[in-house]
Amino acid sequence: MSTATALTRRYDAVVVGAGLAGLSAALALRPARVLLVAAGPMDQAASSLAQGGIAAAFDPADDASAHAADTLAAGAGLCDPRIVALVTAAAPAAIGRLIDHGVAFDRDDTGRLALGREAAHGHARIVHAGGDGTGFAVTAALTRAAAAADHITWIAASAAALWTRDDDVVGLVLRRGEATEAIRAGAVVLATGGIGALYAETTNPTAARGSGLALAARAGAALTDLEFVQFHPTAIAAGGDPLPLATEALRGAGARLVDETGTPIMEGIDPALDLAPRDVVARAVYGARRRGRTVFLDTRTAIGDRLPALFPTVASLCRRAGIDPLRQPIPVAPAAHYHMGGIAVDRHGRSSLKGLWACGEVAGTGLHGANRLASNSLLEALVYGERVAHDILGRAGDRAAAGKAPKTVPARPAPSPRLRRLMSDQVGVVRHAAGLDAALTVLAGQAPDDDDALVARLIAYAARARRESRGAHCRADYPLAATARRFTFTLAEAMADIAADPALPSRARA
Ligand SMILES: Cc1cc2nc3c(=O)[nH]c(=O)nc-3n(C[C@H](O)[C@H](O)[C@H](O)COP(=O)(O)OP(=O)(O)OC[C@H]3O[C@@H](n4cnc5c(N)ncnc54)[C@H](O)[C@@H]3O)c2cc1C
Repeated sequence: MSTATALTRRYDAVVVGAGLAGLSAALALRPARVLLVAAGPMDQAASSLAQGGIAAAFDPADDASAHAADTLAAGAGLCDPRIVALVTAAAPAAIGRLIDHGVAFDRDDTGRLALGREAAHGHARIVHAGGDGTGFAVTAALTRAAAAADHITWIAASAAALWTRDDDVVGLVLRRGEATEAIRAGAVVLATGGIGALYAETTNPTAARGSGLALAARAGAALTDLEFVQFHPTAIAAGGDPLPLATEALRGAGARLVDETGTPIMEGIDPALDLAPRDVVARAVYGARRRGRTVFLDTRTAIGDRLPALFPTVASLCRRAGIDPLRQPIPVAPAAHYHMGGIAVDRHGRSSLKGLWACGEVAGTGLHGANRLASNSLLEALVYGERVAHDILGRAGDRAAAGKAPKTVPARPAPSPRLRRLMSDQVGVVRHAAGLDAALTVLAGQAPDDDDALVARLIAYAARARRESRGAHCRADYPLAATARRFTFTLAEAMADIAADPALPSRARA
């Protein structure tokens, strides 16, 4: 352990993370003095990798309530309907702000926004930019805006600890190389993204390792829905880390999932076939692979040689992986893709700790419930980034004295391959008590200051506690759904449960 150097700077707000959530929050915090902290370059933000697009009800036949209904259906009984209504209603205005920032969304021949359709959406409502390069286009536009904004100071550093005083977050400790620095802030916003890099097979960048979750957990914040990890059914299985993604929109355009004999794998599984909900398709691909089949996404008949024009990102990812999708089907596998749970926040993005807000994938707002509807996460990042900023700007008064700066843990290497394998094998697409207990036992033996192991342990704990199958959480030993309820806990509560009886966490019954 080392102690952070003495306080050198103070900001109105520190925003950690420069994906869509952090960038939106930082920009909307004007005129407050903002420190924007990002551990990695733009491609370490999942936002820049997004291919599908952003959901918003623009079609005259569509409206926010239909978007909300689809979101609630995907969430399998665990969405917060008030949050769903709020976010879906805010979607068109959020897209409008991106247009103001210069994002050139794709348009149809009449000049209207071109709207794509994705699985489990009842209407065509996905806006995209540069075909399947939406995430890059949007993140680049907001990155340019943030770099030019005079109220934002942007530094490359890693948030290593929250600075708390009497359960009040008063700042944080940053690490740059071996140096640490304590920063005082009127507000701290965590926008650190997801947890996919804790899994061996993931579509997420290495930075998506739940570091914001670990910081909030150690500071005592409430966490929610951690067991709900969405696995994307069609990561391109041709090596690489992260695995490149073959967007769901390919199946929307008619691509089929087949095995090595060309037999469609979704027949007899779901009436919607290849457009079944993402968790159903992920389990079908997982099951076929477990039975020794090789699974492919065949785009040749439905999309054919239009693929490079319609899906330039997928075409280029295939090329880099040595696959020619015009001539051969694309090998695919499920991969950890999105974390529905996170730091429990209210409708303003406030956590249970005064002074701490969270937005984007690291937050658990209640929008996604047990399963995220495709293209709702960029939307949530945009809407909540703004909500957090407005809430912070609306607060009156100064903060308590900060006291002594906290200690920090040593710099972290990349997540260990052993931990990632354990998570994919035992806390993955299909779970059961024996596997989750095995994971909890291994994770209990890791160093107490290992944030990756801490977050992995909390996910395994929540998955062990939820003795039912719901949405993206599939328990082979509890295949049916039980009473719908969210599971929210603090680190101290989880550790007390684990110490008392890992097989029967008392919090799960609360
Ligand atoms: C391949 C792929 C395709 C996707 N496609 C879509 C899609 O089409 N539509 C959709 O809605 N969603 C999609 N998603 C999900 C969506 O991209 C993410 O949920 C969303 O971008 C999360 O945004 P964020 O701002 O919360 O996090 P991110 O964009 O991941 O940004 C996190 C930021 O935090 C920084 N960071 C992390 N830890 C620290 C730390 N300790 N200190 C400092 N900085 C830190 C990172 O460097 C990064 O800047 C996709 C995801 C992937 C991986």
